[in-house]
Parts: sequence; structure tokens; C-alpha cells
Amino acid sequence: MQPHIYDAIVIGAGGIGSATAYQLAESGADVLVLEQFQRGHAFGSSHGETRIIRFFYDKPFYTELMKSAYAEWRALESASGRALLSITGSVSLGTSGNRYGIAARNSLDAAGVESEWWDAQQLASRFPQFHVSKGMDILWQKDTGFLHAALCVSTHLQLAAQRGADIREEAPVTRIDWQADVPTVYTETGRFHGRKIVVTAGAWTGGLLAALNLPLTVTRQQVCYFHPTDAAQFQPNRFPVFVEVTADGEFFYGIPAFGKNGIKMARHGRGQPVSPDACNRTPDAEYIERLQNYVQQRLPGIGKAVHAEVCLYTETPDEDFIIDVHPRCPALLIAAGFSGHGFKFCAIVGRILSELALTGETLLDIHPFRIDREYGSSSGIARLQT
Ligand SMILES: Cc1cc2nc3c(=O)[nH]c(=O)nc-3n(C[C@H](O)[C@H](O)[C@H](O)COP(=O)(O)OP(=O)(O)OC[C@H]3O[C@@H](n4cnc5c(N)ncnc54)[C@H](O)[C@@H]3O)c2cc1C
Repeated sequence: MQPHIYDAIVIGAGGIGSATAYQLAESGADVLVLEQFQRGHAFGSSHGETRIIRFFYDKPFYTELMKSAYAEWRALESASGRALLSITGSVSLGTSGNRYGIAARNSLDAAGVESEWWDAQQLASRFPQFHVSKGMDILWQKDTGFLHAALCVSTHLQLAAQRGADIREEAPVTRIDWQADVPTVYTETGRFHGRKIVVTAGAWTGGLLAALNLPLTVTRQQVCYFHPTDAAQFQPNRFPVFVEVTADGEFFYGIPAFGKNGIKMARHGRGQPVSPDACNRTPDAEYIERLQNYVQQRLPGIGKAVHAEVCLYTETPDEDFIIDVHPRCPALLIAAGFSGHGFKFCAIVGRILSELALTGETLLDIHPFRIDREYGSSSGIARLQT
């Protein structure tokens, strides 16, 4: 009997894999999705209730790509009948003349996306929750908000399944033979054939594709949640997404209260390199204390951290993504290295991967994400993303 050959096998059902599965199934492809854990698990990078969505980036190609990403998320809302985005606007705070704020404003201007510089008084009249000194740069961008992250992943998977995708959980892929006449994927219990293999394995990508020696580093990251006494002041209708680059180059961000966890806050940056299977999942007391000290100064009404979590970033040296067909193997597509800022792009990356798998090309500009690019080191401001 001839073995079944799928049009595409997607490895990993996190943010990127679920979107890819949906787009492939929506295009009528015969898709298999293999996920090593149960869907919605908390060991990777896409769990939790919220992720920031925004246009402002210091690198203009991200701002440009976000136009298509917003449209794709809105299309998913229409297809599912679910609200998946909350738009709150955002304030970016920084010391006067900070490079990140200026570069982000330039990217917004170049893309024709409206933004405004505010002074401390304008911020105080609109969002009195913030305590800022005079002379800070404050950039307001009205289209920023947050995605309902866990719901986005489950929606992509549900819609993919409704369109015929075969989604298998607790099916860890142990090996991929992408050079076989018919590319083959092995799990502990079987093997599967696909015309294309799409690897969206997040922090496990480097290990799964060890032979390719991809420049990926998995790092340990932490987030904290706060429950203010006056909760109404920090709801999405009263409080924006915010980011701040401090004078010392630390980068903080926060997302309004949403769901059961409260206000989410974190310090974004290079974390400690770890193995995804052997990562200490207990948050550090010093980290929580640092965030606590920061909010006491900037947002005193937020109160004390009530909960903290550990999760993973998969970083490239320049913190730009890898989205490409492997240069020596047209059957193998790779999307990895989302470097702590990939969730907002999931919907559009899913479309790009589906187009690449089914037609070999995409109209969107993905040349910054080539596998064989020169990987410069992070410029410092490129790191200030989430
Ligand atoms: C704390 C935190 C905050 C963040 N905040 C933001 C934000 O505000 N905005 C933003 O845009 N981005 C943000 N990000 C980044 C964003 O969440 C990630 O870039 C994105 O979720 C990555 O998705 P992924 O699909 O590549 O990885 P994952 O979600 O980890 O998915 C990979 C999947 O592959 C599966 N898998 C791996 N190996 C195998 C195998 N061998 N066989 C089968 N399955 C396998 C894994 O189990 C996993 O389910 C944040 C990330 C973190 C950790």
C-alpha cells in the first residue's frame, strides 16, 4: 500500500505552528500537526493570556510587516467570530533623546502610522496612574494593544481542525529526514510523509535541527502579575500598554489587567541561556524585587506582585526572526528565533509559511529573515522589543 503523503507536516503547535496549520488548512491543503505536549501547555513561549501588539519598532521592516499582521488578526476575528485583540494605545517612556524612541518614531512616520510626542503634563492628564518627571520622552501610539494570546492559539487550532487539519498531541518528533525522496518525520510511535516539512518548534528547534547548526540561543525569562487595590484604574479602558527604556538601558513593559492574572509586567532583555527541557521554572526573588522597585516609582498604585512565571525566548544574534526555506533543501521550511517579540506576527507568519509551502513564494518581504544572512550582533536598541 502506498504511504499517505501530506501536503505539509507542521512540527509544533505554539503561536507560529497553530497559525501555519490554520492557513494551510484554509488553503485546502492536507495538513498534519505534531505537538510534543498537549495543546495550550505552559513549557514554551506562547502560553498565557496576553501579548503586546504594536506598530512601533526601531527597525522599519517590522513596522511595515505589522500592517499585514494586524489585517490577518482582524481576519481571524471575522473567521472565528471571537474578539482576539484589545486596543488600548500605548505610551513609550524614555530619557530625553533616547535612541529607541527616536528610531521607533521614524519607523512609524516612514510607514504613515500616526503617533504623538507628549509631555509629562499630557501624560498626567490622560493617564494619572504614571508618575514621571519632566523632560522624559513620551511617545503615544493609539493602535497598540494586546492579543488574547492563549485564545489566539486555540482559535487557530480549532479553525484548522474544522478545515480538516489532523492535529496530534503528545506526539514528539524525534527525527526528520528531509533529504529522503519523500521527506519523512519520525515520532516515537510512527513515521509520517509530507511534501513539505514546516518546523515551528520554538525553543526546541535548535535541537531538532542540530545538523543545521542554526544560530539560536534559548533563554530563561520571567514575568510578574500585579493586583492593584483600585483595579478599575488599570483596566484596558483606563490604562494603556506601556514600555520604558530607563537611563541604565533596562527595558520594562506592562499590559493592563486582563483575565484572572491581573496586570502583567516584565523586564525584557537577554536572559540566562538554558536548555528548554532543563530550565529552572521557579521565578527569582531578586527579579520580582527589581520589578517591585520599578513600579513603586513609576506606577505606585499597582501595589505588590502577586504571582510570577518563567518562560522561554529563542534568540538569534541580531534578534531578527528566521523565516525561510532551507537553502539546500526546498522541502524544509523553518520559522524560529522569534527573540521574545514574535507573537504579534504569528498570524502573518502563518500565512507566509503556508504560501511558501504551497507555492514556493510569498509577496511579503521576508529577506531580513533569511537563514543565510550575516548575523550581526544585536545593536543594543534592536534588543528593545517585545
Ligand atoms: C514572557 C514572554 C513575553 C512575551 N511577550 C511578547 C509580546 O508582548 N509580544 C510579542 O509579540 N511577543 C512576545 N513574546 C514572544 C512570543 O510569545 C514568541 O515569539 C512566540 O510565542 C513564539 O512562538 P513559537 O510558536 O515559535 O514557539 P512556541 O510557542 O514555544 O511553540 C513551539 C511548539 O513546538 C512544540 N515542539 C517543540 N519541539 C517539538 C517536537 N520535537 N515535536 C513536536 N512538537 C514540538 C513545543 O512543544 C511548542 O508547543 C513573549 C514571550 C515570552 C516568553
